[in-house]
Amino acid sequence: MGRPLTARIRLDAFRHNYRLAKASHGGRALAVVKANAYGHGAVRCAQAIADEADGFAVASIEEALTLRAAGISAPILLLEGFFETAELPDIQAHDLWIVVHQHWQVEALMATALSRPVTVWLKMDSGMHRVGIEPERYQAVYARLKSHPQVADIVLMSHFSRADEAGSTYLPRQLKIFHESIAGISAPISLSNSAAVLGWSAAHADWARPGIMLYGPDPFVGQMDEPGEPLSARLRPVMQLEGALISVRTIAPGEPVGYGGMFVSDRATRVGVVSCGYADGYPRTAPTGTPVAVDGQLTRLIGRVSMDMLTVDLTDLPKAEIGSRVELWGDQVPVNEVASRVGTIAYELLCNVKRARFVYSD
Ligand code: PLP
Repeated sequence: MGRPLTARIRLDAFRHNYRLAKASHGGRALAVVKANAYGHGAVRCAQAIADEADGFAVASIEEALTLRAAGISAPILLLEGFFETAELPDIQAHDLWIVVHQHWQVEALMATALSRPVTVWLKMDSGMHRVGIEPERYQAVYARLKSHPQVADIVLMSHFSRADEAGSTYLPRQLKIFHESIAGISAPISLSNSAAVLGWSAAHADWARPGIMLYGPDPFVGQMDEPGEPLSARLRPVMQLEGALISVRTIAPGEPVGYGGMFVSDRATRVGVVSCGYADGYPRTAPTGTPVAVDGQLTRLIGRVSMDMLTVDLTDLPKAEIGSRVELWGDQVPVNEVASRVGTIAYELLCNVKRARFVYSD
């Protein structure tokens, strides 16, 4: 068996979350499976919804070709488009869709002879100010692409910078800029990431682009204050990160635990050592008190996280013993909770899981 650290990936939960995204947004949805499906395994996740997904979105041509090689035939959108003109032949050969978000891409596309027209998602910078065509130049770029024989369909898109802030006034501003700047154009529209799918119906359009919600975390991290059950409560965690107790000992009051003696017991303390550390992607900065679940019972991390192990408090869990299962995140310990303890977001923790054995279930 080897070192007991397993990332259990529930593909039925992934499928459920994709259906929830589609049902709450309406229209079609590209499942965002970039970064190896936010650390979950892009091929397995894509295959799990291959029969029903309207398409997938990835960050690079390498990620797209991995999906094509695994037999995924649905549309695949390159969220960053292409990085150099030399990628265009592969984009064509594998029938990939591209985001065009910079002027040099427009020029490169026009200047390259293509064997068949390519589908373009034309991204506007409506306020994120990273990439995207300026609102005042959008119509001209659209017209140029539209009249070009090498361009097939065009989808109008933009991306929100603050959709995960319930009640943000910035998202409506981006929405207004977007709609004013596309006035008169009749083409499909795509605006919503997960937070907009769940919380901003005004942004719903022809295509959604949900990412994080497909893996279970609530993008609002519990901020939604609506009457009744928020939609995000129906999301199911896909990854269960599971280690095991590999050592148990009792220390006297006043004794420190781990590097730097960061935790000092105030009573006789039963200390469990878990087979997971920062080299596995568990954050080193997680403080004493971060929740973990041992054999289904919640307890807390104590002391500093090491490279290959971390320590937990078993004082109130007398039945826990070597071999007991420890959930680092999953059903009982929301990954959002661990992320907020260390000042990051679930996205980062999920993407960082390494060295674990990945076990998939349908
Ligand atoms: N659309 C674009 C352009 C993105 O860059 C991303 C992710 O970064 C998404 C959609 C998915 O966002 P989320 O994971 O917040 O749903």
